[in-house]
This record gives sequence, structure tokens and C-alpha cells, in this order.
Amino acid sequence: MSQIPNPWVTALTQFDDAAERLHLDDALRQILRSCSRELTVHFPVRLSNGSTAVFRGYRVQHNVVLGPAKGGIRYHPSVDLDEMRAMAMWMTWKCAVAKIPFGGAKGGVAVDPAKLTPQELENLTRRYATEIALLIGPQADIPAPDMGTDAHVMAWIMDTYSMHRGYSVTGVVTGKPLSIGGTLGRQEATGRGIVYIAQEAARCGLTPFEGATVAVQGFGKVGGVAARLLAAEGCRVVAVSDISGGLYNEGGLDVEALNRCSQQGVTLADAPGGDHISNQELLVLPVDILVPAAMESQVTGANAPQLRAKLVLEGANGPLTPEADAVLRERGILVIPDILANAGGLVVSYFEWVQDIQSFFWEEEEINERLRRVMVRAFAEVKGLADERHATLREAATMRGVQRVAEATLVRGIYP
Ligand code: NAD
Repeated sequence: MSQIPNPWVTALTQFDDAAERLHLDDALRQILRSCSRELTVHFPVRLSNGSTAVFRGYRVQHNVVLGPAKGGIRYHPSVDLDEMRAMAMWMTWKCAVAKIPFGGAKGGVAVDPAKLTPQELENLTRRYATEIALLIGPQADIPAPDMGTDAHVMAWIMDTYSMHRGYSVTGVVTGKPLSIGGTLGRQEATGRGIVYIAQEAARCGLTPFEGATVAVQGFGKVGGVAARLLAAEGCRVVAVSDISGGLYNEGGLDVEALNRCSQQGVTLADAPGGDHISNQELLVLPVDILVPAAMESQVTGANAPQLRAKLVLEGANGPLTPEADAVLRERGILVIPDILANAGGLVVSYFEWVQDIQSFFWEEEEINERLRRVMVRAFAEVKGLADERHATLREAATMRGVQRVAEATLVRGIYP
């Protein structure tokens, strides 16, 4: 039985490999290997029954050489410092691959948000926002939604930060509701970016697209949207899953209907339209494209030998362990890595921040078209480098990201 690695170990392994290929000197390796700021907070929240509970939260900035730190806020019981470090480092490379002038960050609270009342969730969010206000700000560090958080949570963070400042600071978070400076296209951005990348992969002959069979693990902000848009663009989505389990229909699922069920709080284990399968069964279905869009370490050395997809498009961050990567490479299964495939959310978050700062808002067509251009260029650059260096797309994407941050570090020099 293979062990599920710590995501920070995974991120460091990937970095070390890229640093080696780029012949980075030791000093640069030490700088880029470390997270520049790591804040751990413990804070009390008053619960609805009158009692008080203490929660543990984090905000980690991996690297801010290219610009303000950017990264999601996760509410999940598994949140710990190493998970935050890994996600923050991946964000640094993701920004650099997409040429977005941000650094990488991540934050979160170890909590199951489903177990909180709406009032408790608001209390927890406002107190957490106050605790991390030391680090966040529109020029310093800009949070966004991630697992277990949404536009509403971002609104509470924006409001709390603004109350402390005494004026409205819309640019402090992205993924906000439209009514307070959110952008059109943000909710769909990560899923839409995945579609653009799948289309580019198809254009290069790496996968079929029209009529391609697709399985999507995770039916939230990334997986739910990716499944719906891939189906709308002509793919046959045969399986989807959430934490409750999955649904499989060889003829294709009605993803729109399943999204409506999910919005009404129906889990896929109780949804109609196909045969009920487990998450593990979904991962090993014989499909053209597998989109793991739930959480990290879902494909490991243990189940990678059974995978039958032809292409894996990483919607989640770190869904494959390095052991799984090696097995899939050996088996000739192509992997398009997270720091390229799921960058759409980051890109449109950047557009949201730019619009907030200018107080001038764009049409949705313009946003989607600009997103498409960024994703197409990033894919071409990574694919070109992979071909040139006989590397996997993950190796090439990490090299591209690390190289850009390394160059900027050298140009800026070391203070003092
Ligand atoms: P979400 O909370 O909206 O959805 C997560 C989905 O995964 C839910 O359907 C949940 O039921 C399912 N899930 C959770 N644990 C599972 C498990 N053990 N097995 C199977 N399914 C499980 O979260 P999200 O924002 O869609 O994020 C999903 C992943 O994508 C995370 O890795 C996140 O870091 C990454 N990501 C998110 C964004 C974004 O814009 N939201 C951008 C880039 C990457």
C-alpha cells in the first residue's frame, strides 16, 4: 500500500526537480524553497448555543517577488500548515506561468463549514479576517474563494477589512459578489479555463474534444462548472462525483440538471440520471479525459496503475501524488498540471482586482476573451518547453514558473 505524501513534500519535490533542470544556484534554491511569511492564528468564535470554540487558521505567503500575494481561503478539517505552504508555492508558479503579476499565498481554517450555522460561519469569517488583516490588503495579499468558501465569505472578509479601514476596500479580495465589485465571469473562470486548455490540447492532437468522454471528480465551483461547460461545448460527460459519491451514464449525464440539484442541496449520491458509483470507481473509468477537481492526493501510486483515462486534466490543486505522476508517465497517460489547467480562476481574479482598482468594469465577453488568450498562450509556452526539453507538461510548467520568479529575484537583488 503506497503512502499518501504530505502535499508540501510533493511541492518541494517538484520544485527541486525544476531547480535542477534550470541549474539554479544554491542561494536561489534556498530562497524559492521557503515560504516568506507564515502566520498561524488561534481565535475564539461564539457559537449559536452560547458556548465558545477556538479555531486554528493560517495565512501563508510563499513568494511576493512578482507582486502582491494571491491565493484562496480554504475551510476544511484537513487544513494544516504544510497544506497551506504547498498551495502557496503552487500559486507562485501558477501566477508566473500565466504571467500574472502576483505572488503565491494560501489561507484557511481547520473547520467543516457544513457543521456551522450561517451566523457561526459569519462570526468565524469576520474574526479570521481580523486575525489575518496583518497580512492582507489590496497591494499586499488578496484572498479568493477555495474549498469550503464562496462569494459570501469573500463579502464578509471585504466588509470586515473595510470596517477596520473606515472606507470600502473592494480590491482586498476577489471572487466577491457582483454588487460589491466582483467581476462577471469569475464564478465560471476556473472551469472555463479548463475547457480552453482541453481545446488547445485537442488542437495539438493530444486528445479528442468533440464527443470526447469525460469523468469529473468534485462537483463544486471547479468541477461542477467544468462538467457543465465541457458538456455545453460538445464533450460527453459520462461521470461526475462529489464527496457523497458519483453518478455514471455511458450515454452522457444531464449536467445542467445535476447542477440544479446540487444548488438545491441534493448530493450526487441521491441524484437521478445514472448508476451510482464510488469516487474510486469514477477515477478508473475508461474515458478520454479525467478531470480530478475535488482535492489533493486523489490519484496515488495505489490507484494510478488502474487508471484508464487517456488524458488527466488537473482541476484541483495537487490531485496526483508524485508516485502517481511517475506511474502515469510510464503508462503513457498525459497529465496537464494544475498550475496550468486550473489557472483560469486566478486569471479572472486578477481581472477583478484590476477592475476594482480602476473602478471601471468590463463586459463578460471581453473577460472571457482575455482569459482565453492568457490560457492559450500559457499552454503554448508550456507545451513548447516540454517538447524542447523532453519533459512532462508538469515539469515544463514548473520550470517556466520557477524560471520567471528566479529571474525577477536576481534582477531585484537581495535587500539590504
Ligand atoms: P468546492 O468546495 O466548491 O467543491 C469541492 C467539491 O469536491 C465538492 O463537490 C465536494 O463534495 C467534493 N469533494 C470534497 N472532498 C472530496 C473527496 N474526498 N472525494 C470526492 N469529492 C470530494 O471547492 P472548489 O473551489 O471547486 O475547489 C476544488 C479544488 O480546486 C481544490 O483543490 C481547489 O484548491 C482547486 N481550485 C479551486 C479554484 C477556484 O476558483 N475555486 C481555482 C483553482 C483550483
